[in-house]
Amino acid sequence: MPEQPLKTRVPTPFTFSQSSLQDYVDCARRFQLRYIEQLQWPAVETAPVLENERRQLEGQQFHRMAQQSLLGLPADKLAKMANTGNLSRWWQNFTNPDLTGLPGLAAKAGKNLSGLNLYPELTLSAPIGQHRLLAKYDLVALQNRTTAQPDNQATIYDWKTSLKRPKNEWMAARLQTKVYRALLAEAGKHLNGGAPIQPEQIEMVYWYTEFPSEPANFRYDNAQHKRDWDNLVKLVSEISAKQSYPMTDDEKKCAYCLYRSYCERGTRAGEGEETETELTDAEITLEQIQEIEF
Ligand code: SF4
Repeated sequence: MPEQPLKTRVPTPFTFSQSSLQDYVDCARRFQLRYIEQLQWPAVETAPVLENERRQLEGQQFHRMAQQSLLGLPADKLAKMANTGNLSRWWQNFTNPDLTGLPGLAAKAGKNLSGLNLYPELTLSAPIGQHRLLAKYDLVALQNRTTAQPDNQATIYDWKTSLKRPKNEWMAARLQTKVYRALLAEAGKHLNGGAPIQPEQIEMVYWYTEFPSEPANFRYDNAQHKRDWDNLVKLVSEISAKQSYPMTDDEKKCAYCLYRSYCERGTRAGEGEETETELTDAEITLEQIQEIEF
């Protein structure tokens, strides 16, 4: 553990994200170490070259390649960055329109695609209580709004590089699913000619690099939006008022946690049984990449 006493209060204003909220829900101590103390991942204290952590690096690389493809870099040039077996397979899946269900998307991104506007690397934020809530999207695809089509579809895409495909019910409960859809409704009107994007227009799609023909799709509606936003406001308020951040009682959550050596919950990754949480801990999102780099 660090020698100085840990800080116990969230500064005001604080920028919350799906990652920080999910960390808090999974383990308040992890939230404290990562976001209040801003401790670096203690890689030197963990066993080297662990499979799970290597996959995180591959996930990070894949997200960079997808971003650059969507910004218009040629796919054949980017393919040279696929320097591992996993990355090569994921890239083939991503660039195969028959598998992504997004025909020609990677090749044509950056252009208006038959009435579809693509926003890769989109950041949206909105006030929440005394703080802000921020999301960094892999891609938002928005149909043009026309008189004939006022309820244009807005689709959020998120690339997942996890080893196994989680159940849809589990993904539906993740903070990412709640935060990403809610923020597009709350803060996306500038993408839509100044008209708020209604929850009913929004769909979120998780596309799995290992399971390219099995995406998870989540529609949205006004009732769900109200429930989600109210719960997010309550969660942010709870964290703001918090004065102590206990370690989780569920030690399975520690198995792949990068702070495990700080908590004396093991120095090697993956001790114990594999759980669904850990299946997705190996993948990494654009939001997490930017939080890490920042
Ligand atoms: S090792 Fe366990 S207790 Fe410590 S921060 Fe990670 S999840 Fe929480």
